[in-house]
Amino acid sequence: MKRGGVVGAAGTVGAQAGFELALSGVLDELIYIDLLDEKAEGQALDTMQAITYESDTCVRRGGYEDAEDAQLFLVTAGRPREPGMTRLDLADANAPIVEEIFEKIEGVSPEAVTLMTTNPVDVMNRYAYEAGDRGRGKVIGFGGWLDSARFRYVLSKRTEVPPTEVEAIVLGEHGDSQVPIFSGVEVEGAEVKFGEEGKEEVRSSLRESSMEVIGKKGATEFAPARGLYHIARSILTDEEEVVPCSVVLQGEYGLEDVSLGVPCVLGDGGVKEVVEIKLTGEESEELRGAAEKLESAYAELDV
Ligand code: NAD
Repeated sequence: MKRGGVVGAAGTVGAQAGFELALSGVLDELIYIDLLDEKAEGQALDTMQAITYESDTCVRRGGYEDAEDAQLFLVTAGRPREPGMTRLDLADANAPIVEEIFEKIEGVSPEAVTLMTTNPVDVMNRYAYEAGDRGRGKVIGFGGWLDSARFRYVLSKRTEVPPTEVEAIVLGEHGDSQVPIFSGVEVEGAEVKFGEEGKEEVRSSLRESSMEVIGKKGATEFAPARGLYHIARSILTDEEEVVPCSVVLQGEYGLEDVSLGVPCVLGDGGVKEVVEIKLTGEESEELRGAAEKLESAYAELDV
């Protein structure tokens, strides 16, 4: 029996990610957990009615006890940003929510992989790791897939090449000190050179991309949900795909203890390996800067 859970399933990202995961059919059962019982039940029923032609996943609202021995949880519960807020502004509000949720998850499924979405995701992921008792490979933060998707989109628009022909990744914080890896960009299989001005324009577009969506439709939804589904599937089907995810580092890239976005091999049991790619001196410096910023944010958590 392959079982999963979505904590925060009544909300914007949780409901859409749950729907995508249910539609794929990779799980036998998916439990929707939320403080808003009735809305979670509605999301579960709507999902079930949507997938009947394509998937046999059974989706139902439940409590943590229903998600016993689940292999994977998407954690999308907590306060989202409002226009003008940074992700780090949410840290003190979301830390107690994360603490409570992870205690319950580990109580019923101590071997589960968790995909943290709650912002500020890198800080919350480290908090969950340090408060719990699971290996770091099972405690994964979501952000790098999405930042990289946005990087591809921005580059595709600049070069007028379809986004599927663009290879580009973002490491570091899921936030303002993200690190777009310009040295690794390939468009239609060819390397691209960026001047300082071009890099700054791209960085600025990336920093604005999520707030533009939040300002116009109230929340980001399809993009994070698609990424969560993609990562969940990679893990549940042991794809061994390399995807940038936030994970607590143990010496990789010269960093310790901090959780931030790095390329990870995903499969059975979560992160199988952290991949150290070649960075320029400038990129390494930016990654170190992101780590220092996240270290301070973690130290300042008021919990
Ligand atoms: P939302 O308000 O629509 O949904 C949050 C849900 O969490 C609500 O249904 C709420 O009832 C539930 N919830 C709150 N406390 C809970 C608890 N203790 N137990 C169970 N459920 C609880 O918010 P959203 O737009 O779906 O965003 C959710 C989180 O994800 C936010 O922190 C947001 O900033 C973050 N987010 C992260 C990324 C990313 O890339 N990492 C992308 C988008 C959103």
